Amino acid sequence: MAKIHILDEHIANQIAAGEVVERPASVVKELVENAIDAGSTKIEVTVEEGGLQSIRVTDNGSGIDPNDCTAAFYRHATSKIEHSRDLFHITTLGFRGEALPSIAAVAKVELVTSSGDEGLGHRVVIEGGKLIADETIAAPRGTDLIIRELFYNTPARLKYMKTIQTELGHISDFMYRMALSHPQIAFSLRHNSNSLLQTVGNGDLLQVIAAVYGTQAAKAMLPIQAENLDFQLHGYISRPEWTRSNRNGISTMVNGRYIRNFGVNQAIQRAYHTLLPINRFPLAVFDLRMHPSLVDVNVHPAKLEVRFSKEQELYPFVEQSIYQVLRQEVLIPQPVKQS
Ligand code: ADP
Ligand code: MG
Repeated sequence: MAKIHILDEHIANQIAAGEVVERPASVVKELVENAIDAGSTKIEVTVEEGGLQSIRVTDNGSGIDPNDCTAAFYRHATSKIEHSRDLFHITTLGFRGEALPSIAAVAKVELVTSSGDEGLGHRVVIEGGKLIADETIAAPRGTDLIIRELFYNTPARLKYMKTIQTELGHISDFMYRMALSHPQIAFSLRHNSNSLLQTVGNGDLLQVIAAVYGTQAAKAMLPIQAENLDFQLHGYISRPEWTRSNRNGISTMVNGRYIRNFGVNQAIQRAYHTLLPINRFPLAVFDLRMHPSLVDVNVHPAKLEVRFSKEQELYPFVEQSIYQVLRQEVLIPQPVKQS
C-alpha cells in the first residue's frame, strides 16, 4: 500500500515557518521588507512585550488589491517575480512568497489594506492558518498588519524565546539597519509606548547615523564614495580614533539590502589595519551598488547572506576605497570637534 502523501498547506506552512519565523524580529523583518517593497515613505512599527504579545507594522505604500488579500497568504504567492530568469536579477527585498503564510501559520494575523485613495479598503483576519474574516471596510491607502500572540500554537518554539529585552534587542537592531539602509524612508519604532527610533526620511544618511548611534558618532564619520566598472560604494566610515568594542557597528547594504558578509567585514578591517587598537572596531555604514546579476540573494530564507560572483574583485575594491579615505585623514588629521 502506498504510504507517501503530499502534506496539506497548513502543515507545509508550519514547517516553512520554522525557517522563516525564528523569533519576533523575523516577523518585523518580513513585514518591514514588504512595506519597503510596496514603495512606502513612512513605516511605523509598534511592538508589545518584545513582540511576543503583538507586532504592528503600518505603511503608506501601494496596499494590496482586494482580490489579492487572501491570495497573499498562500504559499509561494508573490507579486514580485514570475519567471525563473527573474531570480537572477532580484530588485525587491522579498520574492519567495513565504512570509505571510508562514507568519499566519504560527500567529493571529489581522490585515487592513487599501490600494486606492477612495478610502475603501479590505480586512482579513487569519488565526492559525484559518480564515476568520474577509470583508470590505473603510481604510486609508497603505497596509496595516497586526500580528498577535506569536507562536501561540507552537509551544515548543515559544518556550525557546529569550527575555523580552533580548527579543526587543533583535528587533531594534534590525530596525536600525533598515533605517540606515533606507534614509529616504521615515521609520519609527515603539515598544510598550516608548519611542526607540524615529527618523525623518529626508534621505540624509548622516542624520540617520545620528538617530541610531548619537550625534557624537555622526560627527566622527568620514564620507566615502568610490566606484569602478562593476561596483559603486558610498556611505560613512568612522575616523580611526572613534572605535567600538564589537563589529556590530559595521552595516553593509548591497543594492539597499542589509547583509552580513565575512569577506566585506575583513576587507574593512584590513583597510584600517594598524590604525585601530587590537580588538577595537570601526563604525561603518555603506551601500554597495552592483548589477543584480553579480549578487545571488537566494542563498538562505532570511536572505541575510549573499554570494558575490566577483568577490575576488569586490573585496580589494572595498579595502582600497576605505584605505584611500583613511590615508588622507591620517595625513591631514582633523580632530573630532566637540559640540
Ligand atoms: P514576498 O514578499 O516574498 O512576495 P510575502 O509572503 O511577504 O511574499 O508577501 C506576499 C505578497 O503580499 C507580496 O508579494 C505583495 O504582493 C503582498 N504584500 C505583502 N505585504 C504588503 C505590503 N505591506 N504592501 C503591499 N503589498 C504587500
Ligand atoms: Mg515579503
